[in-house]
Amino acid sequence: MDDKELKQIMEEGFNAQDYFCDARPRVVTPVANKIVRKFYNWAQANSLWILAFGTGCGSIELPPLYTARYDVSRYGIFPRPTPRQAGVFIISGYLSVKTLKRVIRSYEQMQNPKFVLGLGSCTVNGGMYFDSYNTINRLDYYLPVDVYIAGCMPRPEALIAGFNELKKMIKQGKAEGANQYAENFDWYKANQKKIIKDWDLPEYNW
Ligand code: SF4
Repeated sequence: MDDKELKQIMEEGFNAQDYFCDARPRVVTPVANKIVRKFYNWAQANSLWILAFGTGCGSIELPPLYTARYDVSRYGIFPRPTPRQAGVFIISGYLSVKTLKRVIRSYEQMQNPKFVLGLGSCTVNGGMYFDSYNTINRLDYYLPVDVYIAGCMPRPEALIAGFNELKKMIKQGKAEGANQYAENFDWYKANQKKIIKDWDLPEYNW
């Protein structure tokens, strides 16, 4: 931003809409060279930086992962503080409509390659809140889920098994959630808008 633009902002005031990117997400095609592609996949699978969105009670099982007993850092799994630094989004439990809005925004701010882990039965089918007026039942109607970890609540061992499953999929080039989101963007947006009544998000806001 040069001085002229800065001066203009100071005079006219800050308009947040001007600073969102409204470009649609794009499908990322894998590198053609098989050896390079395998190397990329291997590197990605062993460098899972997570954004843990503690939406529900299942999030209480996340902190033990970083303790000496489970020590997931030995698998290349680290927590990150912002969506822009993270590659794995963990939705840890039930999701209210209000929270879904923030979750969508956080997901869209993450850079590719990115993956989603649905933690707990609530993300699969609503769990014990299946008939609540204010929670969603199926996370994959709104965001692409690469791996579900069922249970109420899943123990850290189950989480580690889920990470291993995700690693396997990444190595095989089968963790395609972000591409699925880009390919079916209109379908996801329609589902999101159907449930979020006060839709005041830009169409795409990374
Ligand atoms: S699956 Fe169970 S532990 Fe997880 S958010 Fe739902 S009710 Fe809570």
